Amino acid sequence: MSLKVYNSLTRQKESFTPINHPYVGMYVCGPTVSGESHLGHARPYVTFDVLYRYLMHLGYKVRYVRNLTDAGHFEEEGREAEDKISKKAVLEKLEPMELVQKYTNLYHWAMNRLNNLTPAIEPTATGHIIEQIEMIKKIIADGYAYETNGSVYFDVEKYNTDYSRKGQPYGILSGRILEDQMESTRELDNQNEKRNKSDFALWKNAPHEHNKRWQSPWGEGFPGWHIECSAMSKKYLGDEFDIHGGGMDLQFPHHECEIAQSTVCNHKMPARYWIHNNMITINGKKMGKSYNNVIKLTELFSGEHPMLAQAYAPMTIRFFILQSHYRGTLDFSNEALQASEKALKRLFEAYEWLQHQPAPSNSTPADAELAAKVQKLISGFSEFMDDDMNTAKVLANMFELAPVINSIKDKHITAEALGNAVFISLQQELKLYVEDIFGLKNERAENNGKLDGVLQLLIDIRKEAKSRKDFVTSDKIRNELAALGVQLKDEKDGGVSYSVS
Ligand code: ZN
Repeated sequence: MSLKVYNSLTRQKESFTPINHPYVGMYVCGPTVSGESHLGHARPYVTFDVLYRYLMHLGYKVRYVRNLTDAGHFEEEGREAEDKISKKAVLEKLEPMELVQKYTNLYHWAMNRLNNLTPAIEPTATGHIIEQIEMIKKIIADGYAYETNGSVYFDVEKYNTDYSRKGQPYGILSGRILEDQMESTRELDNQNEKRNKSDFALWKNAPHEHNKRWQSPWGEGFPGWHIECSAMSKKYLGDEFDIHGGGMDLQFPHHECEIAQSTVCNHKMPARYWIHNNMITINGKKMGKSYNNVIKLTELFSGEHPMLAQAYAPMTIRFFILQSHYRGTLDFSNEALQASEKALKRLFEAYEWLQHQPAPSNSTPADAELAAKVQKLISGFSEFMDDDMNTAKVLANMFELAPVINSIKDKHITAEALGNAVFISLQQELKLYVEDIFGLKNERAENNGKLDGVLQLLIDIRKEAKSRKDFVTSDKIRNELAALGVQLKDEKDGGVSYSVS
């Protein structure tokens, strides 16, 4: 079997064939760094991180480009020229680039904690103003954009008329028909600058007090949001590349506009496979500022949010995301995350124990039926990943394997039941999928490593205290550790062991 992915453009699962084997170009829309990353941001970046890891596992050489929007993202397309970054900077009394740096650092920190690999290139909009201006000039020259009062707008209607004939109307990705879009567009500011309501800005004239503006052939201003992704994907991946990814909410208008701009400029559909992850809801409701239910990643990791019953480890969030297929909706609730936390702990207990066991020497499994069942579950890992990245089904197989591992651990069956080859395959494939492809790591073990050191130190101090008959200190250590749930036990051989409840 080979990898199949669901292409939003064709609305079907397709075999993945890169344009220039074994190279793969993948562009994923990054965040607008005008605020902290929230739970909704975690999903696309974990999803595409797993795709990135899986493509590399399949042997592809992937150039993964994920941008940072640090200029020119309008609050609402079509409304009064308003740069999110500049607006927030004034509010927080920071230099715009200071604000961008602050939220970029926080974003990188959160991505790191979620164990997302760093993309190959992370270009910024402000670093590619020249490329964006060049693209806009070309679109104007070809007759698909016009200037009004120092702003430049893309002529959607002209594009739609011309490209409908070529089988690529505006709306090809989202399935929206232009007439419907025009009727549903509200009467907004700046409409008098546009020929049609659905036209979108490529460049916005910026008032003098606007602190982030650049020289252009149309006067001082800043670029529209959509053009940055077209310019940066073209620069690093070429006129036509393999995968364009992002959240479903970006299909329209963002990706639709990217397709129109890039097609006019390069005479090519920019990407072959458009992959979109579904959204995260909170207790069944859409997440958003207007619903007052946005949970930042820092709040999830610390538990400091009125909606959170506890702190959640980054790996719990990652695991929670991977428990659903990326195209399905995913509903956050404390109960769901608590269940994920427990399940992940169970998985790691079985997984880590198994990794340290010697393989049995018998080549013929003592229990042929069980060995065949285990082999089938292992083979399912790649089959499910090849079927449009179904991480949920891979995890379900792992949870069918965990009781088999636990039975060996509890000596209800022996490792010989599986035989040498199946046992080794189980160890290796679990390691490959749990750690390398799903990017899960045992935070408890990492923390316990430190805890071990600290406890050993206390045990040594208590031992010294006892040896000089300082029982006040030795009892204090034992009792206060007990109050924290750590039981010390004096062994017969003079050693001390401990258990954490
Ligand atoms: Zn984008």
